Amino acid sequence: MYKIKLLVLLSVFVSLKSAAGTPVPDFEATQISEHIYVIFGPTDRPNPENLGFINNPAIIIGADSAIIIDPGSSLESGRMVLRQLKKLTDKPVTDVFISHIHGDHWLGSQAIREQYPNAKLYAHPEMIRKARESEAQFWVEILNTLTKGATDGTEAVIPEIPVSNGDSYKIAGLTIRVHIMPAVHSFTDAMYEIVEDSVMITGDNVTYKRMPRFDEGTFRGTIKMADKLLTQNFTSFVPGHGPSGDKKIVESFRKYVVTLYETVSQLYEEGMSDFEMKDKVVAKLADYQQWTGFQEQIGKHISLAILEAEKAAFE
Ligand SMILES: [Zn+2]
Repeated sequence: MYKIKLLVLLSVFVSLKSAAGTPVPDFEATQISEHIYVIFGPTDRPNPENLGFINNPAIIIGADSAIIIDPGSSLESGRMVLRQLKKLTDKPVTDVFISHIHGDHWLGSQAIREQYPNAKLYAHPEMIRKARESEAQFWVEILNTLTKGATDGTEAVIPEIPVSNGDSYKIAGLTIRVHIMPAVHSFTDAMYEIVEDSVMITGDNVTYKRMPRFDEGTFRGTIKMADKLLTQNFTSFVPGHGPSGDKKIVESFRKYVVTLYETVSQLYEEGMSDFEMKDKVVAKLADYQQWTGFQEQIGKHISLAILEAEKAAFE
């Protein structure tokens, strides 16, 4: 009898424990335009100190409702975003737009649905397909591992509404326009323009003062995307990680990608291996050595650039 009670108590304890992540402390939202506030997250990789919260969620306040873009990495990150939102408005969240498949940007959707069960969730159709297939679970697990359990209790709430390039959504008196370019950061990327504020939310298609990742993207697609962005006169760009700014941040990011890809391609053509060319490439990128993750990523970027240059040679 006592044994059974003990087992019941134990299982209750275990299930309570596994349901509770660590609350993410408040990060104040910064107003960047008339309707838009951004919570600039830490720029490190997910770890037990940042509790997995590392992206730039955007809060957009319209006439009678609020919109969120990229509500963070976990249930607790999403709850933190909603706490900041409630300091600004008591309008309900009706729409949530997701930039891409990487879980640090969207698993916070669970918190939005928890408080606003009718909120609509939008993403690139490939994001939705991949998340449903297996990547949602992959991201839930990897974030929990990297944070040593701080994101416990997070479950994937996958977007349902696919967006297409050029779509315009009229929400609460504002216009959200979708921009999709092929083969950029993850093949699931959608950028969102808030037309009335002349602001572009780029997701990880652009990062600033924080190294981008190219594990699933392409350098050439990224350069084309940056070129296209620079032909348009947005007042402000919000990158997936790092501070926002005017087009100078896109120019700086583009220069990194172009310098890396062109230098690597040239040295590879001259017969150098990734190991042999590393010092020369790093010297060319002196301006970027202070970017978060430079030492960690540069070797991988060189190897990936060689693979892409090899492929390009056969096209
Ligand atoms: Zn990403």
